Amino acid sequence: MTQTPILPGATIGFLGGGQLGRMAAMAARSMGYDIQVLDPDTSCSARPIASKCITAKWGDTAAGAALARECAVVTLEIEQIPVETLDAVAAITPLHPGSGPLYIVQDRARQKEWLRSEGFPLGGFKTVTTEQECVNAVRALGPSIVKSSHGGYDGRGQARVTESFEGANAFTGVGGGCAVVEAFLDIHEELSVMVARSADGAVAVYPPSRNHHTAGVLTWAVTPGGFASETETQAMALALQITERLGIVGLLAVEMFKLTNGDLLVNELAPRPHNTYHHSERAHATSQFEQMIRAVCGLPLGATDILVPGAIHNLLGDLWHDGIAPDFAQALTIPGVRVHLYGKPSARPGRKMGHLSAVGATPEEALARVQQAYELLKR
Ligand code: ATP
Ligand code: MG
Repeated sequence: MTQTPILPGATIGFLGGGQLGRMAAMAARSMGYDIQVLDPDTSCSARPIASKCITAKWGDTAAGAALARECAVVTLEIEQIPVETLDAVAAITPLHPGSGPLYIVQDRARQKEWLRSEGFPLGGFKTVTTEQECVNAVRALGPSIVKSSHGGYDGRGQARVTESFEGANAFTGVGGGCAVVEAFLDIHEELSVMVARSADGAVAVYPPSRNHHTAGVLTWAVTPGGFASETETQAMALALQITERLGIVGLLAVEMFKLTNGDLLVNELAPRPHNTYHHSERAHATSQFEQMIRAVCGLPLGATDILVPGAIHNLLGDLWHDGIAPDFAQALTIPGVRVHLYGKPSARPGRKMGHLSAVGATPEEALARVQQAYELLKR
């Protein structure tokens, strides 16, 4: 399907105005687009960038339709939006990615079952809907992570278990309903691949990012990732195949694990900008945010080459004490470092408040710079 390009000057709608929406909206603004946002939070991060914000719940189909009526195209920064709202938008204006792929991706169990049915490589897992099924799954899989099927992010809605009897509490603890029990994997390296795809089928694949998580939350990411070249080729091919099978228009981030035994497995999918590609603003010829705008507007996709090594380090709310922000001027004493804040009004432990980015002569130097800058903020 080809699409007449939606050119700068047009209005782009965003379902979701968190930090991903804010940064994508800033990229769109730079290109000359107008922005409208729908988000339930009156103080959402994208509000200052949008010319209009609709404050409504995700399930408010009338609000979705109201956004759609004013926009040449609608995209999103969060996938957990009820299909009814997605359909209400798509009935009025193009929605990218569409409700078909979003329906699959937005539910962890459905996403994993789909990946398995398509033959993509995954760790052992079972979908469970009762405490007893969860106990049985842990008995079969051994040490596991029980993950809620709905609404989890940054390691929330997850419980680690080693013995099968713990499965009952874990199932209830992550909210019951439906959960995925995953075998605990022996991970050697974590990586992600970002893919952009247009309605006419044009694709652009980013080289893999190397990612480091602490307690289920991303701490830092760096590019180039420095993986074995076969790993990079295999990861990029896998991400591209998944994007094409899903029929994504927009972005798809594919999180992967390289195990100690050499297997490359898919962890999960995100049909939107991704925390592990925030360094694309510094390191790549086209940032993930601009690329998303190009893809959903039917413009030529930008080059994904790495122009300079780049890294990011997340800034969580733990760095704020009694509401007082850390001394960002300290971080800026490190060469190559920039501070990116999301404008969130209140800091809570674990809440993503912003990130540091840096470029360097090598990926090691870029990473060392964000880590050094981060240490200065911890004081
Ligand atoms: P996010 O939204 O930040 O991507 P999430 O809440 O969806 O996170 P996952 O991506 O499922 O959570 O897991 C977060 C991290 O926890 C992974 O990047 C990895 O470090 C670890 N992890 C997840 N699943 C497993 C597993 N099966 N075995 C070992 N470690 C795991
Ligand atoms: Mg993840």
